[in-house]
Amino acid sequence: MDDGALRELQRSLDGRVLTPRDDDYDAARVIYNALVDARPSVIARCTRPADVATALDFARSHSLEIAVRGGGHNPAGHCICDGGLVVDLSQMRTVTVDSSSAVAHADGGATWGDFDTATQAAGLVTPGGVVVTTGVAGLTLGGGIGHLTAQRGLTCDNLIGGEIVTPDGRVLEVSADDELLWGPPRRRRELRRRHEARLQALPARRSGGRTPPVSRSRNTRGAPPVPRSRRLLSSRSLLPGRDRTRRGG
Ligand SMILES: Cc1cc2nc3c(=O)[nH]c(=O)nc-3n(C[C@H](O)[C@H](O)[C@H](O)COP(=O)(O)OP(=O)(O)OC[C@H]3O[C@@H](n4cnc5c(N)ncnc54)[C@H](O)[C@@H]3O)c2cc1C
Repeated sequence: MDDGALRELQRSLDGRVLTPRDDDYDAARVIYNALVDARPSVIARCTRPADVATALDFARSHSLEIAVRGGGHNPAGHCICDGGLVVDLSQMRTVTVDSSSAVAHADGGATWGDFDTATQAAGLVTPGGVVVTTGVAGLTLGGGIGHLTAQRGLTCDNLIGGEIVTPDGRVLEVSADDELLWGPPRRRRELRRRHEARLQALPARRSGGRTPPVSRSRNTRGAPPVPRSRRLLSSRSLLPGRDRTRRGG
């Protein structure tokens, strides 16, 4: 890899760029399944959405394979690659909770430990993974099964929106109604580099043995509550007017 190009990448990134020549490169490429021993050419430690877009640009212009790392728990090692570029989101772990709407926003590298700490402080909970170091994004992309699944469904049933970075570097805000969030299966890999997810949260405790009320996402506010499974079945294409494109962070 050309040194000048790597210096240019480091200049445009807020986070660090790691290559095999860096002392902390080996620590940065270790994932949960230590049997996976992949050696990427570049690890881009992103700290903001604009970094993700920059890293994708760099990978595209240098024809590098791309892997996206969230919590790093995928047993097959899909978050790392040999010779390519890793978009490492492990420094983007902020979770914010809006108690009034019962919605939590999780950065692309947030873990369930980060998420549960933030939501439980507000008396809220979302069905998630049972191990605190698993990534919110990676688990949600796989459906997400946890202690609350029997009562409240899969983690992905509670996904109501997020911000995504498209391969051409656009940062888009999408809701559960937008096909871009889910994507037709064959296009999912190319469509989504999600760096922030917005999850519906529920009251953490039930009173009097009653089932908690069905929460409403912002798409259904004002309408009678409907089961989430039905809401998610109705999707429509992203409308041009709703493409709130913004470059940079
Ligand atoms: C110890 C352990 C406990 C587990 N417990 C559960 C459980 O309770 N419930 C359950 O359902 N599953 C569980 N799993 C499975 C786990 O959900 C999957 O392995 C999941 O892929 C891990 O997500 P991650 O972000 O930690 O992993 P990563 O390896 O970082 O990512 C997994 C996949 O998601 C992609 N990805 C991650 N973040 C993003 C992002 N922000 N944008 C775009 N793509 C992204 C990666 O590219 C990769 O393809 C567990 C796994 C382990 C090892």
